[in-house]
Amino acid sequence: MTYESFHRRSIDDAEGFWAEQAELIHWHQRPQQILDYSRPPLRKWFVGGETNLCYNAVDRHLATRADQPALVYLSTETGETRSYSFAELHREVNRAAAILAALGVGKGDRVVIYMPMIAEAIVAMLACARLGAVHSVVFGGFAAHNLAVRIDDAQPKLLITADAGMRNGKPVPYKHLVDEACRVAKHPPAHVLIVDRGLDQAMPRTPGRDLDYAALRAQHLDAEVPVTWVESNAPSYILYTSGTTGTPKGVQRDTGGYCVALAASMKYVYDARPGETMFTTSDIGWVVGHSYIVYGPLIHGMTTICYEGLPTRPDAGIWWKIVEEYKVTTMFSSPTAVRVLKKQDPEYLRQYDLSSLRYLFLAGEPLDEPTSRWISDALGVPVVDHYWQTETGWAMLTYLPGVELKPNRFGSPGFPNYGFNIRVINEATGADAAPNEKGVLVVVPPLPPGCLSTVWGNDDRFVKSYFSQFKELLYTSSDWAVRDDDGYFFILGRTDDVINVAGHRLGTREIEEAVQAHAAVAEVAVVGIADPLKGQEAVVFATLKDPNLVAEEAGRARLEKEVLAKVVELLGPVARPKHAYFVNALPKTRSGKLLRRSIQALAEGRDPGDLSTLDDPNSLEEVRRAVGSTGH
Ligand code: AMP
Repeated sequence: MTYESFHRRSIDDAEGFWAEQAELIHWHQRPQQILDYSRPPLRKWFVGGETNLCYNAVDRHLATRADQPALVYLSTETGETRSYSFAELHREVNRAAAILAALGVGKGDRVVIYMPMIAEAIVAMLACARLGAVHSVVFGGFAAHNLAVRIDDAQPKLLITADAGMRNGKPVPYKHLVDEACRVAKHPPAHVLIVDRGLDQAMPRTPGRDLDYAALRAQHLDAEVPVTWVESNAPSYILYTSGTTGTPKGVQRDTGGYCVALAASMKYVYDARPGETMFTTSDIGWVVGHSYIVYGPLIHGMTTICYEGLPTRPDAGIWWKIVEEYKVTTMFSSPTAVRVLKKQDPEYLRQYDLSSLRYLFLAGEPLDEPTSRWISDALGVPVVDHYWQTETGWAMLTYLPGVELKPNRFGSPGFPNYGFNIRVINEATGADAAPNEKGVLVVVPPLPPGCLSTVWGNDDRFVKSYFSQFKELLYTSSDWAVRDDDGYFFILGRTDDVINVAGHRLGTREIEEAVQAHAAVAEVAVVGIADPLKGQEAVVFATLKDPNLVAEEAGRARLEKEVLAKVVELLGPVARPKHAYFVNALPKTRSGKLLRRSIQALAEGRDPGDLSTLDDPNSLEEVRRAVGSTGH
């Protein structure tokens, strides 16, 4: 089959195509209708079908692969390794589900999971799915404020955490951040369930609210919790992602559509087979972790690796050691991680037998040619770039090795994935862009299965954020793109105030709000600037209530440190900007709107672009001078 005919059919006969894909999963009750698109752009897939993500990921494999490893947990931080067969994973998930059920968690209830990369985190996600509860995993690198914002939006019954994570050999306490988040949240959960790893002896406990996972697990060792079948469109999880306002959006995923989309993607996008091993180096706090550490590989009957640790510790050979030891066939990582390894001795790649590996997939940020070449040459297997977003849950642009692997073109994540009717639109006219003309990448609705159903609790925000940029009803990716003469797509960065640091999406508004929390700051603009390792880094430009504070270098350095610390305190280390510059004025329009694109251009040493609306010309010099003064 050719890519073209496969893709064409998925668009022209979407219902027929997806009805066939639906056969890949187990349905307790078969869908009565494949697609309900009576309320555009909202849509429902597999209406009336009843299924369960946990059943498809775990129970379904008991008959044929009970003894095959399902989950391998490896920590180079604690030195621990644990392997769970499908039968053992089933036992653990039943125990966890029994604990949750005893705490009153049931269908539709939310559970926030704020955990490091440990097996219990994945067990907790599956236990929620088993009960029809809605998990919301919050990345462990986020701080208390971020966690509190998510708690208030999701209003969970329960929060599951650990005493601490480990990074670079040092414990990173989690529980005290949970306490702080619960203190400031308006809707704190009734209970906090703690996996105590013995890493934080000083961990505070709140009697009555805080519960010990190991103690409760011991009470439910033989528990069997029946699967709660849910209608295909019941929410399975909420995953928050940064947008253009200071409040993150709760991307809501359904159940049946997501399950089918992932099952099909394992075949066509990843060309993976049941019984093989997938190693995805992301974190469960991100969408890649949800789809390709947890659900995708397990639904497909594969072994999945949950790795806690750095790619360079104990040395830069650790990932390849894992590939050799567990005969990894399918690896999924990010360009930044590969750039980190590229700085190390290439010998590390030659020390291990990597013959099991068939593909390395990369996503999350643009893949530059030198990085792609380096890793392709070193591994000798196809390195496949693919493009997607938290919202879509699986790849929008890709090469499809499971259908037809087209020749790679450096810098291009390939072609529209099946199910995605993708166009490039001229931002000003709303017309289709010509080949090689820059435009906004959009998807013609209805979105395929697996993509967000809505923004949690806010259909209006869903429509406004994603479907209102053009006159025509189109899903905007908020990414610039071009399509070349041969149909290859290239992504040229975001159209909005979102930046991408090491493959992680950060909202500049969120960082601005955090900087504003420093008492000395009057006004602030945060922009992303190009960085050779992380793709982009955030930098802060701020005016001060009292400019004398930075008259001396010592005062300036102190204040910069404080401002950066404020961001880390409120948003967590992932959001830490590279620099904070203090200026006397920020480039703004006469109506007071910050000219972020001009500031960004100046910070990168480029032409600031259209300045016809600029209020104060001196402000440009201010930005130039600030950046120049630190030799950036
Ligand atoms: P997130 O939702 O955090 O995964 O971020 C999604 C954003 O990351 C997209 O909107 C793009 O801006 C960027 N992105 C993801 N994958 C790629 C890729 N393969 N090439 C270029 N940019 C990408």
